[in-house]
Amino acid sequence: MSKPSVIIVGSGAGGSVAAWTLATAGHPVLILEKGRNLFPNLGGDGAIGSLFGNDDIKAGRWFENQDPNLEPRTFRTQQQAANGVTHSFVGDVNDLPTTVGGGTVHWDAKCPRFWRHDFKGLSLYGPVPGANVADWPLTYDELAPYYDEVERRLGVQGDVNQIPDFVLRQAPRSRQFVMPPNPLMYAGKLLQEGAAKLGYTAYPVAMAINSAAYDGRPRCNSCGYCSGYGCPINARGGAAVSFLHHALHAGAQLRSRSFVYRVELASRSRAAGVSYLDADGARHTESADIVILALSAIETARLLFMSATADHPDGLGNRSGQVGRNLMFHFFTLGFGVFPEQVHGTRGPSTTVTIDDFVGPDTPPLATSAGLPYIKGGICETGGTLGLMTEAGIYAAFFSAQGAGGGGSRHKQAMKQGLIREHVSGLSMVGEDMPQLANRVDLDPVVRDVYGFPVPRITRSAHQFEVVASQYYGPKLQAVCAAAPGALASGWIPVATIAETGSGNPLGSFAVGAAPTAHIMGTARMGDDPSVSVTDAWGRMHEVENLFIGDGSVFVSAAGFNPSNTIMALALRMARHIAGETALGPPLAAPSNAGLPNTSQDSGGTVALTAAAAGSAAVAVGAARRRRARSRDIETSAKD
Ligand SMILES: Cc1cc2nc3c(=O)[nH]c(=O)nc-3n(C[C@H](O)[C@H](O)[C@H](O)COP(=O)(O)OP(=O)(O)OC[C@H]3O[C@@H](n4cnc5c(N)ncnc54)[C@H](O)[C@@H]3O)c2cc1C
Ligand code: SF4
Repeated sequence: MSKPSVIIVGSGAGGSVAAWTLATAGHPVLILEKGRNLFPNLGGDGAIGSLFGNDDIKAGRWFENQDPNLEPRTFRTQQQAANGVTHSFVGDVNDLPTTVGGGTVHWDAKCPRFWRHDFKGLSLYGPVPGANVADWPLTYDELAPYYDEVERRLGVQGDVNQIPDFVLRQAPRSRQFVMPPNPLMYAGKLLQEGAAKLGYTAYPVAMAINSAAYDGRPRCNSCGYCSGYGCPINARGGAAVSFLHHALHAGAQLRSRSFVYRVELASRSRAAGVSYLDADGARHTESADIVILALSAIETARLLFMSATADHPDGLGNRSGQVGRNLMFHFFTLGFGVFPEQVHGTRGPSTTVTIDDFVGPDTPPLATSAGLPYIKGGICETGGTLGLMTEAGIYAAFFSAQGAGGGGSRHKQAMKQGLIREHVSGLSMVGEDMPQLANRVDLDPVVRDVYGFPVPRITRSAHQFEVVASQYYGPKLQAVCAAAPGALASGWIPVATIAETGSGNPLGSFAVGAAPTAHIMGTARMGDDPSVSVTDAWGRMHEVENLFIGDGSVFVSAAGFNPSNTIMALALRMARHIAGETALGPPLAAPSNAGLPNTSQDSGGTVALTAAAAGSAAVAVGAARRRRARSRDIETSAKD
């Protein structure tokens, strides 16, 4: 008997894993993806190609990203919503790439796991006033085998022996990583020494970057254009190259440039398929036995709202009123150090070490006096800096603020010296944020996209939990930088708080924008109780029996960790459940080349840094490297 057919909407982190799992299990799989395919020979014989290069301009021309002119999102704060403001911002609100492979096309491939306590926040630590804390309907230990398999397929590098015991107690691992860590970046090594002096541990971060040839892809050459750029040589694992490629080999069909605008129903509780627009704007409907939504959390909620019917008047599967709610973004805090020598924060993958000592929970007086039972921080991406275009933009803003226009020759001189780029490095804390009912996605009543559909409206304000955590951990981040060998100066910047409170602040809005963390979670949380959740523990919608959600929408908490490894592990678990299988797949062959690439770490000349430039740089370290200088007067089309 033939196996049930499956339509998967979205080919990013969750969708590609589901496609690979179900195609290899023998299901007919059709993947509908809104974006273009930038991987020549994806699914073909031989090596996968790449249309990416070490190119700042290309990246700023919406090459792989959603174009906010054509497909904007809107934003307002909780207070503005209470005051009846429709929206206060139209544009890029935490946009992710719109392309085959989704957000993993230009991610920096950090693959931490969530910790045991992240799945049981309510039971372990109790409620947080004003937040919607709940336990997940599964445990770390249930998810661990799926993490193992995803990491093996992605080709995640790391070294279990260097992971501190307190981390392994929370996120135990049953095996060594499939390949050793890249050489540490020089800036990371300096900060690692600073951390050690204070009793913290900076260790090689788990990331899906080849330190040795793996899965038919070469090892990383530490080109440095990593986070925010597609990998020109496909040394970085991701949804497209690690899963979709193999799904296509197994018979899955991919239709790129297919914008799905509606889930079609066969009855009140069964999906029949989806309707979509093709590249020419023609409308099509495809049917399948099972539909999986993996559009990423904001777009999945939007599609559920756009799929409202008389039986589902408030959005598909939204009898609970929970669709779109509990949106989480993470809350970044930066520490920075200024060094007389060149620290080469631009060389290598965006960072190579992490510090987990600030994950929490902690109960400092700062928290108690704010009425919080505890606070949590998160993982620290340690040792990066910013790229050329971001640095150029910061100088332009700095000189303009001094009344010197864009800076002219001073600007050029600053760029030649690489004042920020070469002499500032720091660490960026991925702070956990609280789920709140009022932080939500719905449909903007006014603004429409280029296709004529209502755009998603994001209503969001930070909870005291993350604001206080940023205040508490920020000075600790600075202390690490101050303790690094040779540091001349140090500081910390509550970038997320600036973004939250500093609208109108040119520095804040340039470097931080409308919460551009690229981590999008919640909007259709999983749970056992249909009155307060949208899907069950497998991602199946409570109200539509053959409709599943396979992306970050189902997260119950944000934890303090980059989310994609968890998105993929959940998608794998969901798809195995659909396929009626629990056995894990075959292992990939071991890396064919155990040699490691060489990272040049020569030190260069000394230049003077102004405190302002250093401060500007630190604002941009981490959070702003996700955000490229954006030029609205060049190509605006996200479609080819
Ligand atoms: C610069 C950058 C660096 C990052 N680094 C990391 C990192 O180091 N570690 C980490 O864990 N995460 C990282 N992330 C975040 C990561 O990209 C996301 O967590 C992840 O991609 C989300 O997976 P997803 O499956 O939910 O959605 P996505 O990967 O975004 O996939 C959704 C797909 O659906 C498609 N789609 C949307 N709407 C429609 C529609 N209507 N019809 C058809 N298709 C549609 C989109 O085009 C997209 O391809 C980074 C993100 C960025 C931007
Ligand atoms: S640093 Fe390595 S993984 Fe990153 S883009 Fe360059 S070659 Fe690819």
